[in-house]
Amino acid sequence: MPASDPLCEAGCVFCALEGSGRVLLENELALCIADAYPVTPGHSLVIPRRHVADGLALHQPEWNAVVELLKQRREQLCAKDAIISGWNVGLNSGEAAGQTVFHAHWHLIPRRQGDCAEPRGGVRGVIAERQGY
Ligand SMILES: [Zn+2]
Repeated sequence: MPASDPLCEAGCVFCALEGSGRVLLENELALCIADAYPVTPGHSLVIPRRHVADGLALHQPEWNAVVELLKQRREQLCAKDAIISGWNVGLNSGEAAGQTVFHAHWHLIPRRQGDCAEPRGGVRGVIAERQGY
């Protein structure tokens, strides 16, 4: 997002991605980058171009753009890593949910058999003691 855009929050790391060399995929309304602190190899982030903290507040065209990049990045990763056999897709919306960068972003986390001891429950693991059921 251009620095002159009034919606762009000064100092926002995701608003500064344009031209940073970190962008792997992009469309009109969203970008995809590699996560700087990957949970698994290939862990990627899909980020709307518009600065908005709450991912659930996106407009429908932005949702579509995000989903398009999630699918494209998934195809890209599958093409270069045949071991990937599952995915976690997640949005942390709000501080109570663990959001640390207040520019909405979706995590796309490739999963491989045996990459953790007990994957059952997947994203339920956000409350670790309630992951298994
Ligand atoms: Zn931003």
